[in-house]
Amino acid sequence: MRGSSPRMTKEGPSVGYQTKLFIGGQFVDSLEGTTIDTLNPHDGSVLASVAEAKAADVDRAVEAATKAFPKWSRTPAMERGRLLLKLADAIEAKAEELALLESTDTGHPIKDSKILDVPRTAVTYRYFGGMADKVQGSVVPVEAGFLNYVLREPVGIVGQIVPWNFPLMFSSWKMGPALAAGNTIVLKPTELAPLSTLRIAELMAEVGIPEGVVNIVPGFGWTAGQRLAEHPGVHKIAFTGSTATGRKVVEASAGNLKRVQLELGGKGANIVFEDANIKAAINGSAFAIFHNQGQACIAGSRLLLHEKIADEFLDGFLTLAKSIRLGNPLDPKTEMGPLTSAQHRDRVKTYCQIAHQEGGEILTGGQPPADAALAKGYYMQPTVVRAQPDDRVCMEEVFGPFVSVTTFKNEDEVLAIANRTPYGLGGGLWTTNLQRAHRIAQAMIAGMVWVNCYKRVNPGSPFGGVRASGYGREMGFEAMHDYTEAKSVWVNVDAQLPPWYPR
Ligand code: NDP
Repeated sequence: MRGSSPRMTKEGPSVGYQTKLFIGGQFVDSLEGTTIDTLNPHDGSVLASVAEAKAADVDRAVEAATKAFPKWSRTPAMERGRLLLKLADAIEAKAEELALLESTDTGHPIKDSKILDVPRTAVTYRYFGGMADKVQGSVVPVEAGFLNYVLREPVGIVGQIVPWNFPLMFSSWKMGPALAAGNTIVLKPTELAPLSTLRIAELMAEVGIPEGVVNIVPGFGWTAGQRLAEHPGVHKIAFTGSTATGRKVVEASAGNLKRVQLELGGKGANIVFEDANIKAAINGSAFAIFHNQGQACIAGSRLLLHEKIADEFLDGFLTLAKSIRLGNPLDPKTEMGPLTSAQHRDRVKTYCQIAHQEGGEILTGGQPPADAALAKGYYMQPTVVRAQPDDRVCMEEVFGPFVSVTTFKNEDEVLAIANRTPYGLGGGLWTTNLQRAHRIAQAMIAGMVWVNCYKRVNPGSPFGGVRASGYGREMGFEAMHDYTEAKSVWVNVDAQLPPWYPR
């Protein structure tokens, strides 16, 4: 079953990776035999050539998932849960290897992969493993003579499309609840960083998740992704990515009216009030934007500073931004790695030019680092730009280590700015005023709000956005409900048929 097995060492990968499609419990070549190179973002070298799924491969994967569905959906929920708990243990046992794999393929600093990506992935499978047998239907108190109960049944064959910013973690957010609820899966990881997801497929097989229950088809979005979204045999599509692609997914899904769950872009407002603990706000705001090189839909990418504390805050924030240590993601001292692809790095550079053209003031950064050791990689300096609320850099998602700074005078003004973009994913505020904290949290248009913290996530807490940031929720009972359908069953428990029935 297994292909080449990865041998990760402290210095990095030393042997091969799993590079084939995972369909029906087997690692197989693509039908046309084509491959896509996945690159090391630190130096642009080819890490591996991965089989490229095209439409016909997606069809094969959907067939395998369809075949596996009847048995898996009837497998006792406790048993499905047990397998997910085993998977969580297996991930923890391979934590070092998975962290190295994720950092090598995506550019995440290894310290982050070790303390965030891998543990959060294990915890997510464990959470949904524990939940598998706790999703219950209900009994509805209807009129006398009838029993009405509601079953929660799996949706069926689920298509999942995962982007490149957190491939390991995001695939657990999607596969955990889907599997716990009894669905079978065809997942398309991004072709830019598919290696950790393929390794998870191997672990799934090792812990005994039956063949065909999970199928992994790396490939391009406009071929494999598009086919998955439009496939008539897929009953739900769960997508994480840009708002523009989310719209295409909705259009493609219309053919068989599949359920759609969208986790799209964001332009998080991060508000610092004059009564905030400034030191905590500086540290938290740096994490909000610079963690994972700013490649996060929930990044706090718009800093809104009360005019009374703006200078003091910026002093500390710029000092911190300038001190962030860029470097090889596999170096444990690295605080910021490269962006995941050259194309994306160029997109962030373009936004630096746009800021300049719009009259924004680049307070620090704005270009790749001068360090010759990083010249081949896709690095960008942490960038802070003073800009006006309607500037493109304040309205559009940059998705990099790039934060705009704007000042405000009062609550009304800051709320108008915060709620100005088409997005509504996450936002945060820093204040020591309890009433203000709740008032602003309620007034922000967002699926998630953080008070005196930023970017906290937990498998139990619903994750997702409103408006152009999508709909549906990952995590928690909300996610389980999104992966189940309610079936209402009516039983006549009275020998007498009611009088309005035809005799
Ligand atoms: P996309 O939205 O294009 O890609 C996300 C995923 O969707 C990838 O797996 C991609 O495959 C796939 N995809 C692309 N086109 C289609 C399609 N027609 N049908 C189905 N699936 C498709 O994001 P990008 O990678 O191009 O990034 C661009 C911008 O999107 C970023 O700069 C950022 O603003 C935003 N983004 C937001 C994310 C989030 O977490 N909310 C994550 C990633 C990006 P492939 O990789 O082959 O293109």
